[in-house]
Amino acid sequence: MALGKGYIKPKKGPGFKQCFYSEGQIPHIRLFPYFFWMPPHTTGGRLACLDQKGKPIMLESVHRPWLGIVLLLLVTFATPAPGEETGPVEHGPRDRARVALTFDLCQVPGRPAGFDRAIIDTLVSTGTPATFFIGGDWMRTHPDETRELSRNPLFELGDHSWSHPDFRHLTPEAIDEQIRRTAGQMQALTGRTPTLFRFPFGTWTPESLKTVKAAGLTAIQWDVVTGDPDPAVHAKDILAEVTRHSRNGSIIIMHANGRGHHTAKALPSVIEALHAKGFSLVTVSELLQPKPSPTLQVEGDAARP
Ligand SMILES: [Zn+2]
Repeated sequence: MALGKGYIKPKKGPGFKQCFYSEGQIPHIRLFPYFFWMPPHTTGGRLACLDQKGKPIMLESVHRPWLGIVLLLLVTFATPAPGEETGPVEHGPRDRARVALTFDLCQVPGRPAGFDRAIIDTLVSTGTPATFFIGGDWMRTHPDETRELSRNPLFELGDHSWSHPDFRHLTPEAIDEQIRRTAGQMQALTGRTPTLFRFPFGTWTPESLKTVKAAGLTAIQWDVVTGDPDPAVHAKDILAEVTRHSRNGSIIIMHANGRGHHTAKALPSVIEALHAKGFSLVTVSELLQPKPSPTLQVEGDAARP
């Protein structure tokens, strides 16, 4: 479906779990499960949305603002669905002021991507931890960069499949092959075994999720979208998105393969803004660690029976 300005809603609602246009993802779906507003800069691309179970859904455009207002009121007063934690992880605990920066290093064989060194320089110079989801084919063409990332204790490496296919269309065997081949490549180059996984395009089905889990990996999505694969999303837009939408436990998605067009420019101000809002920046694994239980201070005779 081609985009237009105005409202898009599912033919049968409530629907939206995730929506993508071209290579980017459209944010705020969790806030607007019944409809969402298409901002002007998203016009022209192709749109695909997934329902709560990860299945593609039929869409229709609605260009009547009054309907949008009615729907907005409905959404505002509707009780959110109880959080079923059956899907991939979209965020960490909401009771601690921590967020995780994640960078995808994706590549389709035959279409080599790059390595945005300025991003790494900023992370290193500011001592900022980050999680990289790395494709197997990217590691194949960037062995030195892969080793460099793995040597830095600030960084965590996750599996992002071998060739970046849409996992909704793969058999369990093909998924297994994608995951294991990538993990094998990472192991060979770095000695590290990934425990985290990110679906290419963020698209998944209950079956593909089951296969990922069976391979011992935790699937990690995000709840803050920078939209950085879109060249029209400038550094100030990235900063605005992150500042506006980061909450306790947020996972922020960006790209470090040269296709996050203004990410390197935005990153210093993004880090500064997150610190200014009181967030600590941590890796995804750290973000997902349960809160340490308060230790009982047992002292003196009072504690004795
Ligand atoms: Zn990717």
